[in-house]
Amino acid sequence: MAAPLESADVVIIGGGPAGSSLALGLGESGLRVVILDRARFPRDKLCAGWVTPPVFEALGIEPEAYAMDHVLQPIHGFRVGVSGGRESATHSDEVVSYGIRRCEFDAHLLSRTDSDVREGESLRSLERQASGWLVNDSIQAPLVVGAGGHFCPVARRLMLGPKSEEPLIAAQEIEFRMTPEQAKACPVAAETPQISFLRDLKGYGWIFRKGDWLNVGLGRQDREHLSKHLESFLGELRRAGRLPPDMPKDFHGHAYLLYDQAPRRLFDEGLALIGDAAGLAYPRSGEGIRPAVESGLLLARTLRNASSADKLGAPETLAGYERDLLDRFGSREHRPGPTDRLPAPLVRFLAARLLGHPRIARDIVVRRWFLRA
Ligand SMILES: Cc1cc2nc3c(=O)[nH]c(=O)nc-3n(C[C@H](O)[C@H](O)[C@H](O)COP(=O)(O)OP(=O)(O)OC[C@H]3O[C@@H](n4cnc5c(N)ncnc54)[C@H](O)[C@@H]3O)c2cc1C
Repeated sequence: MAAPLESADVVIIGGGPAGSSLALGLGESGLRVVILDRARFPRDKLCAGWVTPPVFEALGIEPEAYAMDHVLQPIHGFRVGVSGGRESATHSDEVVSYGIRRCEFDAHLLSRTDSDVREGESLRSLERQASGWLVNDSIQAPLVVGAGGHFCPVARRLMLGPKSEEPLIAAQEIEFRMTPEQAKACPVAAETPQISFLRDLKGYGWIFRKGDWLNVGLGRQDREHLSKHLESFLGELRRAGRLPPDMPKDFHGHAYLLYDQAPRRLFDEGLALIGDAAGLAYPRSGEGIRPAVESGLLLARTLRNASSADKLGAPETLAGYERDLLDRFGSREHRPGPTDRLPAPLVRFLAARLLGHPRIARDIVVRRWFLRA
């Protein structure tokens, strides 16, 4: 005999920062919320783990309390440069950002929700019904939210064009715990992560120390030459003595879309996307955790204001979420920056000379691009 069907008001596919923020925002709303995640937490997520302070504020997390049982590396500045060119370091007396480990951070966020969380359960099927959706042949709901990251299956249903045409950022990264000897010899200053731009400005590499953990990676706009750029960046780090000679070599890859280049719709009847599923990472810095968290909270606000539970998936309700998101993050239209209009050799020439200049590093790269001050 088939198991009886369950019913929910909202089913969230993915319990990363976007999904858990939506669930947190719906806490005590009286709505029945189910989260499905194919992984079991704590789970790894490829990420440098750089989080800006507004993320903690938005989620009501006290950094000091979080740091009591999780890795939390305060950041006071960045070391900025361009591959093979000059470098300079910025410094602020205040904490400008934090370093976290995603396996810890995401598990913590998910544990703060009061939703029905089903770990180890993938979205296997999504069937349209008269008044909503049937999820995995077992849960009926008027609204299904795609929070499954870049490869979210709900996002695939809402895709406007072929997946191969999405202008994505491809990245490769490793995070490992240094041995006591490696940690002692490591010259990377934990309070000042290094960002090294590629000369064509289509991406950057980073090395980021969080206590005994070292995170090294590189992301760029064209995936074809990614490994070549990564190798060259690692070569520079090795020559500068910043990498332990016997570090692990198993780099892994992932991808994401930038806000102003993501050809993804935010909703359709009974479906909505948040976080990487919607392609919301900030252009320039690639910061994606903050937009993931804020989009989840914005959708929660819209849903709390819906006139009744059966209107949760209605286009007029979800259009409110889209409006709020565009108000918050601006138009999704890609506006070419000055460097997009210059010939490539000139961009390389200017980047090599300007990016590591102390004032440009401080005022443009760190304040404007990375901290969005
Ligand atoms: C190499 C790299 C470095 C980055 N560094 C930073 C950084 O330092 N700071 C920053 O702010 N951003 C960074 N980003 C971006 C950031 O990681 C993402 O923007 C962020 O994780 C988005 O959160 P999310 O909740 O939307 O998706 P995710 O964190 O990807 O969570 C999605 C969840 O959905 C689950 N899921 C997926 N498919 C299914 C399915 N079919 N069924 C059920 N569950 C499913 C997954 O298991 C996962 O738990 C980086 C990205 C990359 C690739």
